[in-house]
Amino acid sequence: MRTVPGFDLFFIAIHALLIPLVGLVAWLVTGLPALFALALALLAAYLLLALRRPLRRRRAAGAPFPGEWREFLLSRSPFYRGLDESGRMRFERDVRLFQAETRIAGSGGAAVSWPTALLVAAGAATMLHGRPDWEPPLHDGVTVYPGFAFDRNYRPGRGSIAGQAPAGGPLLVAEKSLLEGFAGERDGINVMIHELAHYFDLEARKGGLRVAADQARPVPWGVAIEMAYERHDFAASPLPDYAALNEAEFFACASEMFFEDPIRLGASCPRLFALLEEFYAQDPRFIHLAGMH
Ligand SMILES: [Zn+2]
Repeated sequence: MRTVPGFDLFFIAIHALLIPLVGLVAWLVTGLPALFALALALLAAYLLLALRRPLRRRRAAGAPFPGEWREFLLSRSPFYRGLDESGRMRFERDVRLFQAETRIAGSGGAAVSWPTALLVAAGAATMLHGRPDWEPPLHDGVTVYPGFAFDRNYRPGRGSIAGQAPAGGPLLVAEKSLLEGFAGERDGINVMIHELAHYFDLEARKGGLRVAADQARPVPWGVAIEMAYERHDFAASPLPDYAALNEAEFFACASEMFFEDPIRLGASCPRLFALLEEFYAQDPRFIHLAGMH
């Protein structure tokens, strides 16, 4: 994540130039200087509104990262633990930016505890670490349910759904399963990474991302992941059975293992690993190895 995405500033600058220009033309055509004054007033109002988001992001990026949060991440995230000092600072800034931009609430809009909000953001910061130009694909925020799971009717404490990624809705996650995913070990299970991967997948398809995979020419992301799914040997796979359900679950489960146990995934499925390495533009094996010392 960039503190202020360049794209945003580009549009603000274009608008900020156009508004007084239109006012000037109106003045010249009509002979009424009041029209130019009106344009200047409009410009001031526009800048007040348009700069709110970049200023909010700057404030968030510059806010100190509490030592308590750092300790918590060190004990919970092998990925964070393995980052060097500058990597950790960028991770922390991404956590702050994510939290400034993304609604994270309990069911019914209740507030969530700081460790929960921190782990939600840590999932996004982990996955975005190699893609500083990407923004989290969570337009509708995150809703946290109490307990380990909820059922089809979103009743907490029942059923077996630990998380869900509805298109056009908030990411849903059960709080205790979220914490369990960040228990600090390398078991390849992390519900936050799994559900976030679904949104990254959707965004990459919508945005027309192309990857080279091992083809001569880059192919659309949807094609690349479909080919990987079709050639995957599920009988010999370290991925859970659920990954065989369809290509979306395949990618989500593979992403969990990519970030949680990359050494195992890289050793058993090198082609799949290479595809994810290209997608996320990072190789978490080095980070995990550094964190083991
Ligand atoms: Zn899934």
